[in-house]
Amino acid sequence: MKTYDTKFTDDREGADVSTAVASSAAALTASDRCDRCGAQAYLRVELGEGAELLFCAHHAREHGAKLRAIAVNLHDETHKLGDTPTPAPHSEG
Ligand SMILES: [Zn+2]
Repeated sequence: MKTYDTKFTDDREGADVSTAVASSAAALTASDRCDRCGAQAYLRVELGEGAELLFCAHHAREHGAKLRAIAVNLHDETHKLGDTPTPAPHSEG
């Protein structure tokens, strides 16, 4: 009876990402562009019914929490960039 194991079932992130890769999770390429600013996309958000959105690393971070809440599948390659230097100060335009 290990009650402390429940902490690892937290569904905030990770865990089931690798299991979903097999289906339609093609790698993002340089031709995939952010729907917001046109930069190279590192995050694909599948919304179901064939709808999907692409985001660059910047917008992936900016909208990440909300996107994770509505996405049916998430393909995240922002790790390819390493640690983002967080260049932007607190300014929401
Ligand atoms: Zn962008």
